[in-house]
Amino acid sequence: MCIFCDIIAGTIPSRKVYEDDNVLAILDVNPLSKGHTLILPKKHTDSFLTADAETVQNLAACAHELAVKITERTGADGCNILTNCGEAAGQSVSHLHVHIIPRYNGDSAVSFEHAADSTDPDEVLKLLTK
Ligand code: 5GP
Ligand code: ZN
Repeated sequence: MCIFCDIIAGTIPSRKVYEDDNVLAILDVNPLSKGHTLILPKKHTDSFLTADAETVQNLAACAHELAVKITERTGADGCNILTNCGEAAGQSVSHLHVHIIPRYNGDSAVSFEHAADSTDPDEVLKLLTK
């Protein structure tokens, strides 16, 4: 069993934000911002890349509802909704989860500032569309 399966089974405690037959939403134990929440599908799958369509649909519907609610309730100015796929992308728990990260003007909770990739965009387009 993985740590999130243990949380879903109730053998590891968590602070529950929302639960239904398909998903569990909990406060992140190491929050990036006030209200940082994780949404876990109850059915184990390693990441978004391995999830079946039904799991993705349930997760997306919940992420939409909770993102709106959490942003309103925290008084946040915006939020990041993201899921890390694989170690290279920063995934540390191999059980699919969506982060809802409320953002407050001027905070530095998540940053997409970066040097632009230099690959020829036409090459990239060919790769992605051929
Ligand atoms: P990842 O890096 O895999 O996208 O995110 C994993 C997240 O799970 C991290 O933000 C981390 O703080 C959180 N996390 C890890 N272990 C636990 C736990 O036992 N309980 C809770 N509530 N969050 C956890
Ligand atoms: Zn699991």
